[in-house]
Amino acid sequence: MKYFSELAASIEPYVPGEQPQDKAYIKINTNENPYPPSPRVQDLLDSYKTEDLKLYPDPNCTKLAKAIAAAEDLSTDQIFVSNGSDEALAFAFMAFFGENKKILFPEITYSFYPVYSALTSTEYTKIPLTDEMQVKTADYLVPNQGIVIANPNAPTGLFMPLDEIEKILRYNLDNSVVIIDEAYIAFASDLGNKKSLNSQSAVRLINKYPNLLVIRTLSKSHSLAGLRVGYALGHPHLIDGLNRIKNSFNSYTGDSLAIACAAAAISDEAYYINITEQIVNTRDATAKRLRELGFSVLDSRANFLFVKCVNGKETFNYLKEKGVLVRHFDKPLINDYLRITIGTPEDMDLVVNTLAETVNPHN
Ligand SMILES: *Cc1c(COP(=O)(O)O)cnc(C)c1O
Repeated sequence: MKYFSELAASIEPYVPGEQPQDKAYIKINTNENPYPPSPRVQDLLDSYKTEDLKLYPDPNCTKLAKAIAAAEDLSTDQIFVSNGSDEALAFAFMAFFGENKKILFPEITYSFYPVYSALTSTEYTKIPLTDEMQVKTADYLVPNQGIVIANPNAPTGLFMPLDEIEKILRYNLDNSVVIIDEAYIAFASDLGNKKSLNSQSAVRLINKYPNLLVIRTLSKSHSLAGLRVGYALGHPHLIDGLNRIKNSFNSYTGDSLAIACAAAAISDEAYYINITEQIVNTRDATAKRLRELGFSVLDSRANFLFVKCVNGKETFNYLKEKGVLVRHFDKPLINDYLRITIGTPEDMDLVVNTLAETVNPHN
C-alpha cells in the first residue's frame, strides 16, 4: 500500500459481475449472449496460420475498421477499434474530459462512468432519472463539458428515441462531446423488416454532429465477450483524439486474432439478426410471464430485464442457491431490482419458475 500512487490508493475500482468457478450456474448475470458467435469465426480459427502471430498486429486494425465501415456506411477515419468498448470509453474520457471539465450522466447507469471520471479527475453530476426511470432530455440542455448516455440504458434497459438524443446533440454542439454508449443497440432494433442490426443507432447522426461519439461492443450482440473487441464511431477529429491517447498508451490494443475474428463476425449480419431476434422474442415472452406473476418489469429494449422484487438481495440469494446467477446492485434506488440477462428459452423457464417460488413459496 505504501508504494501506491495517490491515484491507486484513492480510486474505487469497478467490480464486474462474477464469473463463478465453484459450480455450474445458469449464468445470466453479465449480459453475455447465450448463442455462439457466427460460424465464420470458427471457420477463421480453423484455418488461422499461427505463423502469423510472430508479427505485431496492424496498429490501426485496418481489416476490422474496413468491415465496420462497410457495415455502417462510414469511412475508416470515422472508426476507432478498441480492446473492448470499456477501453474506448476510458480513452474517450482521457481525450475529451479530465481536469477542469464537468460532465453529466444519469444517476442510474453503467457504473464504470464514475470510475473513469475518478481515474481522469473529471468532475461529474449524476442526473436523476424520472419516476419511470427514464432519461429526461431537458436535464441535459444545461451548461456542461461532456455527456455520457447509455442507450438503451443499463441496467434499466430503457431506450431513448433518436429525436431526443438529437436535441441533446444540437444544444451541446459547440461546447461538449456527447458519448452515446450503444452496448445494447442491436436489441433495440426493429427486426421485423430485417433491415439492419443497428436501425435505431445514433450512428446516422455522425455526419451532422461533430460532437457525437458512438461506442459499440461485440461482447453482447455478437457473442464475443471473451474476445475483447469494441469500437467508437464519430467525426475524424474525435477519432484523432482517441488515437492520440491510444498511441500514448499501447500501440497494439487490438491483437491479430481478435481483429480477424471480429471482422469475420461483423461480415455475417444475417446470422446476428437471427439470434438477436430470438433473444428479443425470449425477452418479451419472459417479461410477460413475470408481469403475470405480479413482478414489475421495466420495458426493456436490451438483452436483459430489470425486475422489481419485494426484497432484491434475498431474491438474488434464493436464485443463487437454486443455481441461477443474476445481477443485483446493492445501491440506493435499485436495491430491490434484479438484472436478468436473457438466456435461452430453457434458461428463462427455469428463472421464471424459480422466481414464482419466491412469490408463493407454499405452492
Ligand atoms: C457491457 C457494457 C460495456 C462494456 O463492454 P465491453 O466491450 O465488454 O468492454 C460498455 N457499456 C455498457 C453499458 C455495457 O453494458
